[in-house]
Amino acid sequence: MESKKSLKLLFTQINKYIVNSKELYGAKMSEQIKNQSNPLSAYFRAPKMYMSLPSGAKYYDDDICDKPENGEFAVYPMTTKDEMMLKNPDALLNGEAVSNLIKSCVPQVKDPIKLLSADVDAILIAIRGASAGDDVEVNAECPKCKETSHVVVSIDSSLSSMESIEDAYSKDLNNGLGIKVLPFTYGNTIKAGIASFQSTRSMQAISELDGDMERLKAFNSSFVQLADLNFEMMIDSIASVAFTDADGQVVNVSERSAIREFLENTDNTTGKEIEKFVNEVNTKGVKQDIRIECQNEKCDNVFDTPINFDPVNFFTDS
Ligand SMILES: [Zn+2]
Repeated sequence: MESKKSLKLLFTQINKYIVNSKELYGAKMSEQIKNQSNPLSAYFRAPKMYMSLPSGAKYYDDDICDKPENGEFAVYPMTTKDEMMLKNPDALLNGEAVSNLIKSCVPQVKDPIKLLSADVDAILIAIRGASAGDDVEVNAECPKCKETSHVVVSIDSSLSSMESIEDAYSKDLNNGLGIKVLPFTYGNTIKAGIASFQSTRSMQAISELDGDMERLKAFNSSFVQLADLNFEMMIDSIASVAFTDADGQVVNVSERSAIREFLENTDNTTGKEIEKFVNEVNTKGVKQDIRIECQNEKCDNVFDTPINFDPVNFFTDS
């Protein structure tokens, strides 16, 4: 069930952003950073670190961010107000919470929603480092001996080992077509997050229904909604499909409706090949897994475990 697996992968990615059903109100960036006339201004926060983005910010125009000349963005620690807003987050669901946090702590970014999702991941990790220090404790249960190992991961080294990302990726499919795929923006991720949240909520409602037939029917419609969303995101992320015509000329198709119709009518093998490539493109950036050597002396197991970069867990646990 390749498609089920990649669907799961997609939702693991977006679930990082979903914490609960609440919403964050009244979030406003701190205006204090630039205020020099206050006699207390020497005690205002200063940048704690500088970071480059996985994309290098090279695809963004001035409306999205002020590009630092050396490519390094200043990262400020969270203010008390930022932190309070994250502890009282009625939702990261609509992206407002994360968006305001980024505008407060990385003021050179003006429109976080339009950043590539991988850049947002990296920024959140950096804000964590600037606010609560470089070390992140990871506790992981060994799948073999079930004992828990404790390791410390460095934010700096996670960020410095991140993969750079391009604004588009090309691939030749087995049937001769060439596709160009765009990585998700944070806006795509939010859209998917809301849909996934709604689906989780309907799953809860389903469990309360009487009768197996009723439950099955409701489950099917919920699953169909998720599959539709996956399909829509796939269409969104395909920039173009190219083929070579009878005269040997390459023809590029980028019209949305043509791409949609193509995806609806292409065979399953090609569909899966495309889906796999879209997923590959969207796992680039900061590695979310670390390798752990089991700390149980009698066990020599080595396993990979995900680091929880979920912004709210990250900040509220510390
Ligand atoms: Zn073990």
